[in-house]
Amino acid sequence: MDPIHSLHTHLLYSSLLIKKLATMATARLLLLLTVSTFCFCSGAIIGIGDELAVEDQRADAAPSCGSLRTAVEARNIVGWKTVPPHCADYVESYMTGERYQRDSDIVINQAIAYAESLKLSSSGKEIWIFDVDETALSTLPYQANHGYGTQLFDNTSFQQYVAQGNAPALQGTLRLYRRLLELGIKPVFLTDRTEDQRAVTTNNLLQQGYYNWEKLVLQPVGLQISTLAFKKCERQKLVNAGYIIVGNIGDQWNDIRGSPDGARTFKFPNPMYYVD
Ligand SMILES: [Mg+2]
Repeated sequence: MDPIHSLHTHLLYSSLLIKKLATMATARLLLLLTVSTFCFCSGAIIGIGDELAVEDQRADAAPSCGSLRTAVEARNIVGWKTVPPHCADYVESYMTGERYQRDSDIVINQAIAYAESLKLSSSGKEIWIFDVDETALSTLPYQANHGYGTQLFDNTSFQQYVAQGNAPALQGTLRLYRRLLELGIKPVFLTDRTEDQRAVTTNNLLQQGYYNWEKLVLQPVGLQISTLAFKKCERQKLVNAGYIIVGNIGDQWNDIRGSPDGARTFKFPNPMYYVD
């Protein structure tokens, strides 16, 4: 082989060797990238898997008391009888702590802002409907002795609490009440307390600073209908009498549902019991 041919052959092999090495390097790089990508994705999958496992554990556990409370307030859970036992401490802490006050204040502040925005007629017929128990007057002293909703509702002991006539005002509701009077909107108390409790209810309201109202509507003794049906019917009577229901506030959805419900309704917080 002549030297030139030999050199040419050498260069050719060298070139082929470099190409082969380059190809191998590229393949190795691709392999590394593939492996690292797989590992990364695999790691991500493992991460998601861990979270799923956490979620699975949560699903197996008792429902979060905070989530239950939110679902109750949003009316995603209805017809319930008692607070789950594992939520007793949570509900007590919520009701006696700042959170309940803050949640109540948001409702009341919104109600006052709405009332202040109204352009009232000169008819004097604008009214605001208030529920009584756990809206105008607190049942917390009673609930504190009965498990904050973890015990089945006992009508006898609750009526004894009402009969004492010492239920404290819920201060946020009292603030709304006073502002409505200043604005010229007349309060109407609509409650499923019964007529035989008119005197004690009147005295309790007066004692707690609710000093004036257009009407106090109570249930006839022995009436066997739901709160929802009773209140809806009574609101219709008010509308038929020419009143304009500009606002309606209650701690139960069944205080404020059903036409005529009022121009605006406000759900006051209550995670302790449910009324049909
Ligand atoms: Mg109530």
